[in-house]
Amino acid sequence: MYVLVINAGSSSLKYQLLDKDTQRLVGKGLCEKVGSEDSFHRHGLDGDERLDTLPLKDHHDAVQAALRALLDPQGGAVKGIEEIAAVGHRVVHGGEHFSASSVIDDEVVARIRECIPLAPLHNPPALTGIEACADLMPHALQVAVFDTAFHQTLPPKAYLYPLPYELYERHRVRTYGFHGTSHRYVAQRAAALLGRPLDELRLITCHLGNGCSVTAVRNGVSVDTSMGFTPLEGLMMGTRCGSIDPAVVTYLIGSLGMGAGQVDDLMNRRSGLLGVSGVSNDLRDVQAAADAGDERAQLACEMYADSVRRHIGQYVFELAGVDAVVLTAGVGENSDRIRQMIFSGLEPLGFLLDGERNRLRGFERVISSEGSPVRILVVPTNEELMIAQDVASLLDA
Ligand code: ADP
Repeated sequence: MYVLVINAGSSSLKYQLLDKDTQRLVGKGLCEKVGSEDSFHRHGLDGDERLDTLPLKDHHDAVQAALRALLDPQGGAVKGIEEIAAVGHRVVHGGEHFSASSVIDDEVVARIRECIPLAPLHNPPALTGIEACADLMPHALQVAVFDTAFHQTLPPKAYLYPLPYELYERHRVRTYGFHGTSHRYVAQRAAALLGRPLDELRLITCHLGNGCSVTAVRNGVSVDTSMGFTPLEGLMMGTRCGSIDPAVVTYLIGSLGMGAGQVDDLMNRRSGLLGVSGVSNDLRDVQAAADAGDERAQLACEMYADSVRRHIGQYVFELAGVDAVVLTAGVGENSDRIRQMIFSGLEPLGFLLDGERNRLRGFERVISSEGSPVRILVVPTNEELMIAQDVASLLDA
């Protein structure tokens, strides 16, 4: 029996097929530019990838293409569609309704639809993916796995903004937090790596990719997180500014005459590493420019690392100490230089990074020195695996 994991974006659809019991990856693929003339489908496991250019007018076509590849008699991963017992859908926003992954029924669909105003770019394609799978695989259990669910344990003092309370009551303006599936996964792996029960640990998990967020995890539960009402809050990111004085927004609108849409574009797509460096949103390019003497690129790297440090520092206080800091996603997993910058000078506080271990690549490991009071870990994230595990337990239940 297999579990299909679907991550539907506005013009893309990523999928992975995993064995339900062993969680072995047996197939994967990516449909891009869905809805445009030059859509394509890349599929197959590493080393055996194929590229089909074909018209995919919507997500229904994309799911169909995925199934065709997975069921291909020549080299497909499964023999019959009924072997796919369940589908796990990544859904960005579950609002306050979902604190765990849920089997999809009409009510769940309605709830996801209700959250569209909170995630206008993300929830609609997820719904389209759900509809397409329900149509093409009516036998399969459909499960929604929410980015926000892990953070539903935040206490009110952490999730409320100091705004008039009615804004929360009437419009649900509050912190939701995102990347929850990734934070949950790396927290679990960290406990396994440390050989200690998750429910006895104080962890700070740092998801540093194009989007960045830090979460304080006490006894396996998210108690605070840096992203807020939207994924714009918190750390400096690839193209997002993270937290800034909110009065900058009123200044841009009131004094510089910008519209709400322009401000949204500026803060979400033209800020962060890209905005400060003027070079790129990709940390590798910014670092290369910094190495070549570009001062703004150097400044952008320093601001980025500082932003992570400040959030870790905040959560050390909130948790009254920390057992381990966990780094994940593109930057967290791969950039020894940023990791070095994050922990540099923090030895008196008990963060002893081991230079040698920090330079190694590509697997779960401890990168702090033997005897470091706070352990520092690198854990490659695997949201698809976390989704498949949730789906498998719901299937078993
Ligand atoms: P997304 O949030 O889109 O999933 P990723 O988790 O893949 O993003 O992270 C993308 C970021 O990771 C980019 O800024 C990229 O530069 C950075 N990154 C990937 N590999 C390296 C590396 N070897 N050194 C530094 N940065 C890296």
